[in-house]
Amino acid sequence: MMFVHPLSCGLGIAFLIETPHGLFLIDSGSPGHQDRVLAKMRELARMDLRLIWITHAHYDHYGSADALRKLTGARIGVHPADAGSMLTGQSPLGSPHRYGFIYPLAQPVANRIRSLPATPPDFTGDDGETLEHYGLDAVILHTPGHTPGHSCLQLEEGINFAGDLIAGFPQPALQSLLATDWGQLTNSLSKLQAAQPKWIYTGHSVHPLPGKSLEGIKLES
Ligand SMILES: [Zn+2]
Repeated sequence: MMFVHPLSCGLGIAFLIETPHGLFLIDSGSPGHQDRVLAKMRELARMDLRLIWITHAHYDHYGSADALRKLTGARIGVHPADAGSMLTGQSPLGSPHRYGFIYPLAQPVANRIRSLPATPPDFTGDDGETLEHYGLDAVILHTPGHTPGHSCLQLEEGINFAGDLIAGFPQPALQSLLATDWGQLTNSLSKLQAAQPKWIYTGHSVHPLPGKSLEGIKLES
């Protein structure tokens, strides 16, 4: 059996996956929220966190990963195109559209309160590679646009962790606030659709979306 526990961690969400072979984390929330994850692990009476997969190098997605690695020995992975940002503790926001202008204003403020640590990944994984070596039956989909190395991770069971490619609940929408390359987003959406996920967890909601709801996404021109 496999369970997904979404944990609110500051501005982001960490998804703790519980399997008989170990615990796995998708994203880690903002800096300073490692205790939220540890508390859940204690509740489960499990300390075997093996892997932290980061969907993309943003403040609210890898902020607590380094602290959790030090506390648990878990290894951190990301797509190679975002590894450099994590190595230097950067969170590249690209160009904002619409209300996205808030983030370039808010991020330095948040960073002054709790700074984003340099987080060198232990390994990188590219499009089509699996995480079986680390005990998780999951495939990496490289879905750039929001950041160059943004990825979605799809579990064998058809559950997909789509990071910030998709936003919105209950009606999903394509990322419309921040991108380093706006032109790549529609291709990335097509790749996610082609994977035919049964359920999708997006980066800022604890509630999964049915995979079929992807069909209703309207693309803005
Ligand atoms: Zn993001």
